[in-house]
Amino acid sequence: MALLVQKYGGTSVGNIERIKSVAEKIKATKADGHDVVVVLSAMSGETNRMIALAKEITANPSPREMDVLLTTGEQTTIALLSMALHSLGLDAVSMTGDQIRLKTDSCHSKARILDVETKNIKEHLKLGRVVVVAGFQGRSETNEITTLGRGGSDTSAVAIAAALKADECQIYTDVDGVYTTDPRVEPNARRLDRITFEEMLEMASLGAKVLQIRSVEFAGKYNVPLRVLSSFKDGGGTLICYEENKMESPVISGIAFNRDEARLTLSGVPDKPTVAAQILSPIGDANIDVDMIVQNTLGNGKTDFTFTVHRDDYEQTKELLEKVCVLLHADNVQGNKEIAKVSVVGVGMWNHPGVAKTMFETLGQEGINMHQIATSEIKISVLVDSKYLELAVRALHKAFKLADDPTEEK
Ligand code: ADP
Ligand code: ASP
Ligand code: MG
Repeated sequence: MALLVQKYGGTSVGNIERIKSVAEKIKATKADGHDVVVVLSAMSGETNRMIALAKEITANPSPREMDVLLTTGEQTTIALLSMALHSLGLDAVSMTGDQIRLKTDSCHSKARILDVETKNIKEHLKLGRVVVVAGFQGRSETNEITTLGRGGSDTSAVAIAAALKADECQIYTDVDGVYTTDPRVEPNARRLDRITFEEMLEMASLGAKVLQIRSVEFAGKYNVPLRVLSSFKDGGGTLICYEENKMESPVISGIAFNRDEARLTLSGVPDKPTVAAQILSPIGDANIDVDMIVQNTLGNGKTDFTFTVHRDDYEQTKELLEKVCVLLHADNVQGNKEIAKVSVVGVGMWNHPGVAKTMFETLGQEGINMHQIATSEIKISVLVDSKYLELAVRALHKAFKLADDPTEEK
C-alpha cells in the first residue's frame, strides 16, 4: 500500500465527463489499496476567463483581489470532484489551500510556499477518505489568500507530497509524459521514460510548461519521486529522477521554448561601474524578472544594455527604462515584443563543443536570424523572431536526431 499524491491539470477536469472519469481513476487506485491525496487545477480556460473579466474592469487590478478571484477556479473543481467520488460510493472531502494550512509568503500572484501542515490531511486519510485539495493557492503570514503563479498546482502537489513523505507525486495531464520537445509543435517528439531533475529544471525554466519550474525545484530539494502521466491513456509516463538512475545520457535531451519573451535595449549608456545596477534596480523593485542580459561596449565610452522580460511586463519595463534613460543621459530605448527563445538542453553537452556549431548552422540553413545567444554548461538559448519559432524547434529536433531512441541498437 502506498501513499500517492495525484495532481490533475485543467484539461483533465475540463468538463463534467472528465471530472467523472478522474473519479473513476481514483476509485481504481483506492481499490488497489492506496491512500490518495488529489490536487486539482481549475477547469481549463477558467483562470484565463477570470483574468479577462478583471481586465474588463481595470487594466491594473489589485493583486490581492486577483488572488481572491482566481482561487475560486480550483474551489469549484475540488467540490465537483468530491461529489463525483461520493456518487461512486467513496468517502471524499474537499479542502482549500487555507484549510490544509498551506502557508506562503505575501507576494500576491507569485507566492512561494513556506510550509504545509499535514495534520488535517492525515486525519482524513486515517478515516479512509480521499482528500481533494485545491492547487495553486495558499494563505500568507498576514492571512491573505495567495496564488503560486501560473501552473502552480504542480507545485502545490509536490509540496504536499514532500510534507506527507508520499511514495510518489503523480502529475496527470493531457500528454503522456515529458517529451524531447512539446509534441504539439513537433509531432516527431519522443517521450522520455526518465529525465534528470537537472534537465527537467532547465527545460521548465526555459519554457516547457509541462511542469511548473518550482515544482521541479521542490521535488529535487525534498527528493520527491515525481512522475508525469496522461489522464486519458494508460502508461508509465516519465519519471523525473537523479542522474545515477538514468538509463540514457544523450548530449542533448530536449528542446524547450518560450513564446512570451520581449527584448529591450537601452543604447548609448555611459560605460562606467554601477550602471548595470542602476538600470536594473527599478525593474527589480517592480518585481519584474529579467533574463538574458547582454552588455556591449562600443569603444566610445558608451555601452548598449540589452535584456529580456516576460511579454506581459514589456510596457511597464519600457516605461521604467525611459526614466532611467533620462537619468543616465543615455541615447534611447528600443524594444521588440515579437521575440521567442529556443533552447537546446542536455547534461551531456558541457564537454561537446560541437553543439553550438550544429545549432547555429541549422538555424542559418533555415534563414533564421539569431538576435541574442546565452549559454550555460547544460543549455544554449537563442532569441529568434516569434514567426520562426516552430520552424526553429522542428529543424533543431531533426538536426540533433532527437526522434531516435539512443538506447535502441541501430
Ligand atoms: P495541465 O493543465 O495539465 O497542467 P499544461 O498545459 O500546463 O497542462 O502542460 C501540459 C502541456 O505542456 C502539454 O499539452 C504540452 O503542449 C506542453 N509541453 C511543453 N513542452 C513539453 C514537453 N517537453 N513534453 C511534454 N509536454 C510539453
Ligand atoms: N489554474 C491555474 C492556472 O491556470 C493553476 C494551474 O492550473 O496549475 O495557471
Ligand atoms: Mg500546468
